[in-house]
Amino acid sequence: MMTAHGEAPRAGAQTADSHTADSQTTHFGYQTVDAADKARLVGDVFRSVAGRYDLMNDLMSFGAHRLWKRFAASQSALRPGGMALDVAGGSGDMAALLARRVGRSGTVVLTDINASMLAEGKNRMLDAGLAGNIEYALADAEKLTFADDAFDCVSMAFGLRNVTRRHDALASMHRVVRPGGRLLVLEFSRPIIPLLEKVYDGYSFAVIPALGKWVAGDESAYRYLVESIRRHPDQHALKAMMRGAGFDEVRVHNLSGGIVALHIGLKY
Ligand code: SAM
Repeated sequence: MMTAHGEAPRAGAQTADSHTADSQTTHFGYQTVDAADKARLVGDVFRSVAGRYDLMNDLMSFGAHRLWKRFAASQSALRPGGMALDVAGGSGDMAALLARRVGRSGTVVLTDINASMLAEGKNRMLDAGLAGNIEYALADAEKLTFADDAFDCVSMAFGLRNVTRRHDALASMHRVVRPGGRLLVLEFSRPIIPLLEKVYDGYSFAVIPALGKWVAGDESAYRYLVESIRRHPDQHALKAMMRGAGFDEVRVHNLSGGIVALHIGLKY
């Protein structure tokens, strides 16, 4: 069911993950779809935009996504020799930042469910001269196959919105973080300044899909982006979800007035 843009269904999105083990449906933007179809629909979105993904990020956020990611990497607590996993890593911005932190003696595993996005990531890492300490793997965030307690830090930037079962993804990431390690979830969230929320809403629905059509040749992919942001749990709800998945001392940093939030959870 498609909801008109003025009727952003925020309330439901703020309480918890709307998909449960028992339900057969979930959200794809404002559409209600069969849960079994969401991964394919999300896959279509990212296959379509992979080649223009980085340019669109810069245009849509006026370059701010680089600062958000840099801040997230600064909170990784990674040291030279460390092991990091970037989940839903796409074109590899986070992986590149983490690779510089772990140095030549460390390892970053860049993963994504989508082969087109992972290929973009691999090409960009090689173009940036980053090799030797980055590995690549196709992986579904909900069913990571890495060993228990394998990573000092797991990051997921702008990925959680896109998975079908967010709880399963958080639990899966919890399993692979070592005790004493941490999860970083960087995601669009809720502006905490009312005026900013109004301006941001107008910008999101009027400008972003038009930009997507013009630059990436895909308006609907960027309409999905805007709608999926509105469907995503707010700061408080995501914090509760991370606690529910086993993380301790979950804290939140609002960035750009809450347009984006970094959630950090520790594993005891
Ligand atoms: N992390 C990158 C960044 O910050 O630029 C890419 C973010 S992009 C908005 C979302 C990514 O999530 C896409 O590359 C998509 O393929 C990936 N994705 C969607 N569902 C996934 C899943 N279940 N498991 C792993 N990756 C997934």
